[in-house]
Amino acid sequence: MTLTEVKALVIRTTDLSESDRLIRLYSDRFGIVSAYANNSRSLKSRYMAAAQLFCYGNYVLYQKGDKFWVREVELENNFFGLRASITKTALGSYFCDVLSEAGTTDPDVSLLRLILNCLYALEKDLAPEAKIKLCFEMRCAAALGFMPDLSGCSECGNDEGELYLDVLGGTCTCKDCREYAASVRQEGMVITEGEEERRPVLILSPGVRAALRYVMECPIERIFSFRVSDADEEALSVAAEQYLLHHLGRGFDTLKFYKGVSG
Ligand SMILES: [Zn+2]
Repeated sequence: MTLTEVKALVIRTTDLSESDRLIRLYSDRFGIVSAYANNSRSLKSRYMAAAQLFCYGNYVLYQKGDKFWVREVELENNFFGLRASITKTALGSYFCDVLSEAGTTDPDVSLLRLILNCLYALEKDLAPEAKIKLCFEMRCAAALGFMPDLSGCSECGNDEGELYLDVLGGTCTCKDCREYAASVRQEGMVITEGEEERRPVLILSPGVRAALRYVMECPIERIFSFRVSDADEEALSVAAEQYLLHHLGRGFDTLKFYKGVSG
C-alpha cells in the first residue's frame, strides 16, 4: 500500500452505487488520475464534500496496484458560487470536460493553474463569461502544444490587414498569397488533393490576432486584462472556440448546453 498526496481538481464524477463514487482528478503530480471515493454519498462521509465537481484541494490517495482510493482530503476551494448560476455551472463543466479529454497522465501544472484561474474568475465575476471562455480555450490550446504563429503571413511576412489562419497547420497567409496560391493551383502548376480545400480556415483581423497572441503569451494572472473593439469581440470568441475544438477533433455536450442556456 502506498499513500500519495496531490493537489487536484475534481473534473468528473461517476456514481457507482448508493454510496460509492469514482472521481476523476486533474492533479499536479499525475495529470489525470481516477480515484474511488467510498461512502462519498453518505451524509456521514468525510469525503462527501470533496468528491464533487469543481472541488480543489490536497487529496491523499491510497494506491493499490493501478487503483487509487481517496483517503483524506483537505479542501481549499469548491467554487460553490458557480452553482448559483446555471450558465456558470455549464461553462465550468465544459472546462472540466476539455481537461478530461485533453489531459494526460503527464501532468501540466500550467493547465491546472489555467482552469483554477478561470473557475475563480467565473465565480467572482472578474470578467464576462464569453471572455473567460475564450481565454480558457486559446490558452489551453497553446498549453497543449497547438500554438499558432500569428505574427504575419508565413509566405511573405505581411503583418497588416486580415490574415487567413490555417487552423490545423497553425500558420497564416495574407490575401495576396492566398489568391496567388489559388491561381497557381488553378493553372495546374501544383497538384493538390481536394483535402486542401476543406481545411478549416479562420479570417483574423489585426485586433483579433493581437488579442489571441496576448492571451497565449501573457502572464496567467493578467490573462483577462485586454480589450478588443466591439467589432472584433464576436470574431475573437468564434476563433478561440473553433481553434480548440478543431485541434481536439470533437465537440462537447456541456458546450452545447452552455450555448443553449446562455442564449
Ligand atoms: Zn503573404
